[in-house]
Amino acid sequence: MHHACHVCGDSDAPYCCEDCFSVNLFCCSCMITLHQNLLLHRVKKWQDGYFHSATLKQLGLCIQLGDHAEQLCHNPKPARNNNFVIIDVHGIHKVALDFCDCTNASSHYRQLLHRQLYPATSTDPRTAATFAVLEHFHLLSFESKGPAYEFYHSLAC
Ligand SMILES: [Zn+2]
Ligand SMILES: [Zn+2]
Repeated sequence: MHHACHVCGDSDAPYCCEDCFSVNLFCCSCMITLHQNLLLHRVKKWQDGYFHSATLKQLGLCIQLGDHAEQLCHNPKPARNNNFVIIDVHGIHKVALDFCDCTNASSHYRQLLHRQLYPATSTDPRTAATFAVLEHFHLLSFESKGPAYEFYHSLAC
């Protein structure tokens, strides 16, 4: 199976995405470009005659938090040990995630919430859930944070 990248024509195009409405194959850099705002898609890599599961983190995608609109953050601060986990409806994703460490940056907790990620802990969060997963489990209640909080603690352990 030798298909060129559907976007750029690069001959090294072993990747496809389970969550995009597409069966096309892409090269690594086009895959990252296509997923700048689809951070939790599940990707596969064609190798040795079959598809292996892969992650966007392995391909080099990094989630940059902070309020820079589409601009680059000049003070990215990687999550501790480059270890960050996002819980989504489809499962648990290990991601590369950089906080914004600019002087006017808000707290890590707020940076996550701003991207619709609900941190498991308020200080030094290393796990977060998508708002979609909270809705899925009917846990999104801003009046009472009790159940969501316990839910995260059980998932984080
Ligand atoms: Zn390409
Ligand atoms: Zn995708």
